Amino acid sequence: MGRIVVIGSYNVGLTVVAPSLPAPGQTVLGHTFDMGPGGKGSNQAIGARRLGADVSLVVKLGADAFAADARELFAREGLLGAGVLEADTHTGVGLILVDDGGRNMIAVAPGANGRLVPGDLDGIPGLFAGASHLLCQLECPPSLFAAAAREARAAGVTTILNPAPGVPLEDEVLALADILTPNETELEVLAGAPVRDEQEAEAGARTLIASGAGRVVVTLGEHGVLVVGPNGDARHRPARSVRAVDTTGAGDAFNAGFATGLAAGLGLEEALELGIRAGAFCVTRLGVIDGLPTREQLDAEVPA
Ligand code: ADP
Repeated sequence: MGRIVVIGSYNVGLTVVAPSLPAPGQTVLGHTFDMGPGGKGSNQAIGARRLGADVSLVVKLGADAFAADARELFAREGLLGAGVLEADTHTGVGLILVDDGGRNMIAVAPGANGRLVPGDLDGIPGLFAGASHLLCQLECPPSLFAAAAREARAAGVTTILNPAPGVPLEDEVLALADILTPNETELEVLAGAPVRDEQEAEAGARTLIASGAGRVVVTLGEHGVLVVGPNGDARHRPARSVRAVDTTGAGDAFNAGFATGLAAGLGLEEALELGIRAGAFCVTRLGVIDGLPTREQLDAEVPA
């Protein structure tokens, strides 16, 4: 089993559910409150760890009480902790308002996530020694992925970029991703063209290959994944059929499962299947953290 280095974000999510969303200047009284860990880096690291991967997580927390909660979470989940850094600001926060119809408004203050910079990697000796895969997202600056990917490749480590949230990237950055895993919306942003069906997804993925990405795995929600290889060859893999209650975090669960499969030495198709199963499990649960399965939960509920 290889080791996965996850470099990314940690956010605490504060959710209030109210009968209606407030208009500007208005206060509404909510009836439900929830606070829980999130951030794509943290989610994907926890997801991979629960599926049995060895995971080193690099995140930056603030100097506040949220950071203590995060450290406890990482210790509980068994993440290898040399990369949990601190900045003199606040921990990343997401403020989420949800109305009774399920509509939401979200504001994120990245805080310490925005302070995670390439130079921080120099202070973590042996980060890539013996590692097999790097897994990054875009809730931290793209320059961080670029620096991490260069260092990873120099150590013989395969680079995976989940380009979420979608922001346009320079070809130079795309070329540092051995595997790119956008969803349809992110693919639209990266390729600069609409993605309304599988054909357009294929075309978008080929654009990214032409820009230098090694392989593109487009996640298509309940329609599964589309894989476009270095020669432009495309293959589709269907999703698992489950009763979906909340699709939040499906992408995090997929990336965690996929990277875990690759780190375990599975072939591409088998690793994709582990990601697809983890994504399917996730949508059967409310929230993201509870939607990241252990291997036992996954085998029991979405068998191979
Ligand atoms: P994101 O959360 O980033 O938008 P997707 O919605 O594409 O990502 O989901 C990632 C993967 O999770 C999909 O490729 C699919 O395999 C699985 N998945 C997502 N939604 C469902 C669903 N409703 N039923 C079964 N599997 C799903």
